[in-house]
Amino acid sequence: MTAKRRFIVIGAGMSGILAAIRLKEAGQTDFVVYEKGSSIGGTWRENRYPGLTCDVPAHCYTYSFAPHADWSAFYAPGPEIKAYFEKVIDDFAVRDFIWLNHEVTACEWDGSRWQVTLADGAQDSADIVIAASGVLHHINDPAIPGKESFAGAMFHSARWDDSVALEGKRIGIIGNGSTGVQIVTALADVASSLVHFQRSPQWVMPVQQFAYSDEDRAAFRADPDRIDAIRFGDDYWNGIRRFNSAIVDPDSPAMREIEELCSRNLEESVRDPALREKLRPNYRAACKRLIYSWSYYDAVQKPDVDVEVGQIERVEPEGIRMKDGTFHPLDVIVLATGFRADRFIRPTTVKGAEGADLDDFWKERPTAHYAVTLPGFPNFFMLNGPTGPVGNFSLIDIAERQWDYLAQLMEPILQGEARTVEPTAEAHADYDRRRTEAARQTIFGSGCTSWYLDKDGVPLTWPWSYDAFAEAMARPVPEEYRWA
Ligand code: NAP
Repeated sequence: MTAKRRFIVIGAGMSGILAAIRLKEAGQTDFVVYEKGSSIGGTWRENRYPGLTCDVPAHCYTYSFAPHADWSAFYAPGPEIKAYFEKVIDDFAVRDFIWLNHEVTACEWDGSRWQVTLADGAQDSADIVIAASGVLHHINDPAIPGKESFAGAMFHSARWDDSVALEGKRIGIIGNGSTGVQIVTALADVASSLVHFQRSPQWVMPVQQFAYSDEDRAAFRADPDRIDAIRFGDDYWNGIRRFNSAIVDPDSPAMREIEELCSRNLEESVRDPALREKLRPNYRAACKRLIYSWSYYDAVQKPDVDVEVGQIERVEPEGIRMKDGTFHPLDVIVLATGFRADRFIRPTTVKGAEGADLDDFWKERPTAHYAVTLPGFPNFFMLNGPTGPVGNFSLIDIAERQWDYLAQLMEPILQGEARTVEPTAEAHADYDRRRTEAARQTIFGSGCTSWYLDKDGVPLTWPWSYDAFAEAMARPVPEEYRWA
């Protein structure tokens, strides 16, 4: 017999929506999804910059249970993805469970339940908390001297200011992660002049983008097998497995293949030898998250586009001054400077059993048992928590697998056979030690800066193969957990 339990889900992004759908499917009705923002969608709500596109093929960036025939292109624009999540919420009738503008500020285990405090002081409680609060949402506001003196408009890529007109303006974009590259590509023809400021050039993996026609979409609707052929097909999955085997074994043929593709892309796409050298990274491909682009090298070869590789000295009222004295006059500065990826659910405070405090537990680095559970924090589950897989593939698939794992942990609780579950401290310490050692050997630890690294320079990522992840998530090891 299924016991009724109360659940609180934190965050209505991709993984919080997944949790809501799965809970409802399991017959649970006593749950709420608290969302601090004024709409759903997580990263797809926060990011609205020009050129925003998901570099996972659109048909592969959906829930496994909710394929979508209507994508406009192979790589979908951000607003379509946000609209997809809105549609899924309605299709699966979970909108009523989502409370927008409700920020969770504290979670405290009182010995038998989680006491949850909201920003307005309201209190709630639950048997189980699911932290689906995302990874890349605390912006990295760079400490560049003179920023406040800038006379034009300046904003972070995830705080896009729609009131700023861009046509004909002199635009500077700081940062060349996936975000900066997409913005440069989108604005190269809009700006009167554009400067792309980069501290460390990026390797660029060439990919093909193409639009789907009305006929294509009709064919996808008429025959869902066509969608499945893309999302479950060998092209995509062999690519994932190959990419993953390259990440975990930097000396593998798969890694050499990635390096050759990126290197050839640079040699063949950039005509001017001086620009080519400027754009050549001095670290290995895929050390930082790889840039997938079909148009970045074209964009930076346009006449009014400049690439500035070097140290910014300061921002001045009229523009940006480089350390070597070069001055770039600008009207608009976009800070595509990324996110603080070590925050996760913080600044929400989380206090577990017997004085456990998440801030203390994460003093060295954020960690979680297989990225989803925490010793000392009973019935507290994370989706896309620290040490989970990262890379150029769908985090939706990762979250679904994590949910399947968590559902098995919760089963004895839902059956009324136990009240709590948490990993043992020993099991987690062993996982953390093995993971950290293996992570140092991955390509992410091969010598570059990136948001994958913790404060000691160790990649905070899943360090084994994709199949090892799928296997780990298929069934929790009972000896690693304590049910009470
Ligand atoms: P990011 O990859 O962390 O890149 C931040 C950029 O800002 C880097 O180029 C960094 O330079 C630069 N930077 C940071 N602080 C700086 C400073 N003080 N002065 C000058 N430059 C500074 O951030 P992101 O581009 O927003 O991307 C984050 C992640 O979001 C991606 O890796 C990806 O996982 C995800 N994303 C995905 C897509 C997609 O299509 N699926 C699109 C956008 C973003 P250094 O490299 O030298 O540190």
